[in-house]
Amino acid sequence: MSAREKLIANPKKTKKLLAKHHLVLKKSLGQNFLIDETILDQIVDAAGVDETTGVIEIGPGIGALTQVLAEKADRVLALEIDQRLKPLLKETLHDYPNATVHFADVLKADMKNLIEQTFRPESKIIVVANLPYYVTTPILMKLLTENLPVSSVVVMIQKEVADRMEADPGDKSYGSLSVAVQYHSEPKVVMNVPKTVFVPQPNVDSSVIKLDIRKEKQVDVSDEDFFFKVVKASFAQRRKTLLNNLMNNLLSKDDKPLIVDCLNKASIEPSRRGETLTIFEYANLSAYLQAHLHK
Ligand code: SAM
Repeated sequence: MSAREKLIANPKKTKKLLAKHHLVLKKSLGQNFLIDETILDQIVDAAGVDETTGVIEIGPGIGALTQVLAEKADRVLALEIDQRLKPLLKETLHDYPNATVHFADVLKADMKNLIEQTFRPESKIIVVANLPYYVTTPILMKLLTENLPVSSVVVMIQKEVADRMEADPGDKSYGSLSVAVQYHSEPKVVMNVPKTVFVPQPNVDSSVIKLDIRKEKQVDVSDEDFFFKVVKASFAQRRKTLLNNLMNNLLSKDDKPLIVDCLNKASIEPSRRGETLTIFEYANLSAYLQAHLHK
């Protein structure tokens, strides 16, 4: 059998495998499996996987993407929460000795340790996944904030969430998620994907987004926790001005003079809305607020 003939990414083979292993898919785990070889090739190409790459896949499902990744990469480490998939994955990944499945919840996994144990020290490590949509943001924030030796993250997610991650100041979908993702990475939507390439079809549209992890941040932030508190508070009520949001959600009405002073110092009009501020303005504002509060 040729390498391509072994691939399971088509409706017939997927249904046959699920029936053979008596598997009923769990909606609660975001189990929408890819059944289109072309889309898989496009994802793997967009990620730039080659024989020097170590790939982390989150949620291999029945192994459709894992197979294509293992064909191209040096090694693949897949993390799957659903233990029921063990025998099925054993079958579909039988001919790919460079692919290992670790059965665990990615949110609880010690990623640093797993990476160290799995990949060669010189490998370029990337994350490639068709993510479970119910838990996309926590997974991505974990990958972005744990200081892992990962150079990029290429993931299929809900289109609306991808749009928010990529949005610029002033865009309707610009929010605290845009600032958080863009603080850690350079996001770019690579393609939009129709619902028809999944079994079962999800209710929402999907996109593949590539997050190139920033080795150096574009803004200087001395206290990330405080910076993100300022950002979250600024977007808390989208119709309210920045001044009102900061009074109501970060400090108090009594702090109005202090906030106005900091906004002036940062050259930001108090009547502006959170959705108009660039990441540079947020960094500047949070530095002034922090300096003031610790006087
Ligand atoms: N990669 C496969 C594909 O593209 O056909 C399956 C993708 S499916 C959208 C998401 C997979 O993530 C499911 O197999 C699900 O069981 C798994 N999953 C859900 N929550 C998870 C978690 N917290 N940790 C690891 N895997 C998880």
